Amino acid sequence: IFITFEGGEGAGKTTHIRFLSEKLRERGREVVCLREPGGTGVGEELRAVVLDPKNENLADEAELLIYEAARAQIVAEVIRPALDRGAVVLCDRFADSTVAYQVHGRGLDADFVERANAFACQGTVPDRTILMVTGGTAKTGLARATHRNGADRLEMAGEEFHTRVNEGFLALARDHADRVRVVQSASKKSKTAARVFRELADLFPW
Ligand code: C5P
Ligand code: MG
Repeated sequence: IFITFEGGEGAGKTTHIRFLSEKLRERGREVVCLREPGGTGVGEELRAVVLDPKNENLADEAELLIYEAARAQIVAEVIRPALDRGAVVLCDRFADSTVAYQVHGRGLDADFVERANAFACQGTVPDRTILMVTGGTAKTGLARATHRNGADRLEMAGEEFHTRVNEGFLALARDHADRVRVVQSASKKSKTAARVFRELADLFPW
């Protein structure tokens, strides 16, 4: 079973992947937790390139291809083999992030990005996608994200960019309502986690 977590900056994806993985492991499932871009040797090197504030001149088209290269690698090297042996794969960002960031955020061509995603994924589609959203503006999420490690190149991109990204994610949820479930962050993490579990109840007998 393949589950992806999506959402803008500081939405709590990483935290809720951890909660879900703990719950699944208690129930004896093999769980593979990944992040994108990254998750492989090649992917982590590509991640460093896209996130490095020194690469401020990276062209939007080049940026897209870097995400797709990292994705092609993680699908072939890690996700496919894990799914084939029956593991649950939890991925922090996946192809939907590229629609939100590169199409809605940067303005790249939607059809091309969709084809590039399909090429990188080779038919691997999430069984369910949890879209984490927070109350408040893109600015509050950004502040939460940058508070942790300092701003990376994307987090320096400005509030309007991130507002378009967040709207892009919501449009995706509307277009793929069967796959994508919106989970609104509650003030208590345990309450948010319960909402995440509820959106997966048909996949796992809790
Ligand atoms: O850890 P985090 O998910 O925040 O790191 C990945 C970063 O890469 C995000 O900050 C996001 O802005 C950026 N990204 C992007 N386009 C994608 C995937 C990620 O701009 N397709
Ligand atoms: Mg970030």
